[in-house]
Amino acid sequence: MISASIHAPWDDFSGLKINEGVRERLHEQFDVWLNMLEDEMDGKEGKLDEIVGGIFETHQELTGMIAESLVEKLHSKELEQKEMVCPKCGRELRSRDKVERTVETMIGPVKLKRPYFWCKNCSEGFYPLDKALNLSGRKKQWDIQKAGGSLATEIPYKKAKEQFKGLTGLSMSDHTMHEVVGDICKDVDVLDVAPSVEEVKRKIREVGGGKKWRPIMVLATAGAHLPTRPESAKGKRRGRKKVRAKRANWKGEWNEAKGFRFYLVDGDRIEHILSWHQVQSNKELKESLKKVKEAGLIPEEEVRLCVIADGARWIWKVAKEIYPKAVKVLDYYHLSEHLHKLAEVQYGHNPERAQEWIEATLARLFFRESSGVIWGLERMKPRSAEAKSEIDRLTGYLKENRDRVDYISKGRISCGEWRN
Ligand SMILES: [Zn+2]
Repeated sequence: MISASIHAPWDDFSGLKINEGVRERLHEQFDVWLNMLEDEMDGKEGKLDEIVGGIFETHQELTGMIAESLVEKLHSKELEQKEMVCPKCGRELRSRDKVERTVETMIGPVKLKRPYFWCKNCSEGFYPLDKALNLSGRKKQWDIQKAGGSLATEIPYKKAKEQFKGLTGLSMSDHTMHEVVGDICKDVDVLDVAPSVEEVKRKIREVGGGKKWRPIMVLATAGAHLPTRPESAKGKRRGRKKVRAKRANWKGEWNEAKGFRFYLVDGDRIEHILSWHQVQSNKELKESLKKVKEAGLIPEEEVRLCVIADGARWIWKVAKEIYPKAVKVLDYYHLSEHLHKLAEVQYGHNPERAQEWIEATLARLFFRESSGVIWGLERMKPRSAEAKSEIDRLTGYLKENRDRVDYISKGRISCGEWRN
C-alpha cells in the first residue's frame, strides 16, 4: 500500500480544507488564466510545442494565484492580526497599514499584503505573516535560491543562469546567483572568485592589442544606471484583476544589490574581469575593493581606469581613496536617459546586454571616444523600426552635443593621467 505512506503536502497543517468560498475564487482565477492562455495562443497553429510553450509561459500566473489563495486560507490569523507583543521588549504593539510584498517562487510570483508592526522602543519592524511563512528576506524565495544556487556551484554563473531560465522559465540574474551562492558558502572571499593577475593581464592584452590607447577598464558599482523596466512587462493583461509583471521584476534586483564589477570595454561590448556582490554594507564594499587593490589584480598602468557610479557621495570617496587616478564617471542623467531608451528597444529582451552596452558607451564617451560611439551607432543593426528611430535620434543627439558630452576635454573632470 504505497498510497498510505505518501504524505499529503498539507498533512501538517490543521486548517486546510478548501472551503466553498476559496474554491469559488480559485475557479474564477482559473478563468482569468484561461483568458491569458487564449491571448498567448492567439495566432498559433496548435502544434504540441506551441501548446506546451503557451502553458509553460503562463502557468506561473495560475499557480502563483493558487498559492495566494492558500496563504489567505491558512494564515487568516496573521493576515488580520491587529496586535502583537514585541518579541524583543515585550511591549504591546498595534498593527499599522498593511504593506504589500511580492515574492518569487518556483511556482510563480506570490503577492502578500500583510500587517506591519513597529516597535519604537527597539526601532524594529515585524511582519508576523512573513515569519509564519518562513519567508526569505530576498525577493526570490528559498526554493528558487536552492535550485539556482546548486546549479551555480556546479557551472559558471552565466551558464547557470541560462540553464535555470531554460528549465524553469524563471530568470535569475548573475548577481543573484552570486548572492545565493554566497549564502551557501559564506566564507568565500572576493579573491576566491577573482581571476589571477596573469588572467587579467591576458585579457587586457587581448582587448587592447594593436590599439592606440590603453583599453578602458571600468569599475562599476551596483545600483548605478538602473535599467528601466521594459514596456512589455508593464500593464494589465486581459481579464487580469491585478497588475503584475509578466516576467521577474529585474529592476528591483539591481536596485537591492550592493557590489561592484570590473570589466574592460571592447568596442560596445564588455569583457568581464570580476564581479562581487556578496556585500551587505558600504563598509564591506570598501574592504572588498581594498582587497582587490592590495592583491594587485588591476594593473592600473596598463589600462585607463574609470569608475562609474550614481550620485552617492560615499562611493566617490571610496574610489578616490583606493584608485585616486581613476576617472570618475557620473551616470549623468540626460545622456544616460537617451542611452537607456535605445538599450531598452534594442536589447530589451536581454537586460544584461542592455546594461553592458549602456556602461560601455558611457565609459567610452567619457574617454573622448564619441566618434567611435557614433561610428558604432551608425553600423548598429536595429532590432525593430522603433530601435531604428532611437538609433537615429541618439546619433543625432551625440553629433549635436559632441562637445558637451566630452566631459574630460572640457576639464569638468580633473583626474588627469587618463591618457598614455
Ligand atoms: Zn520592542
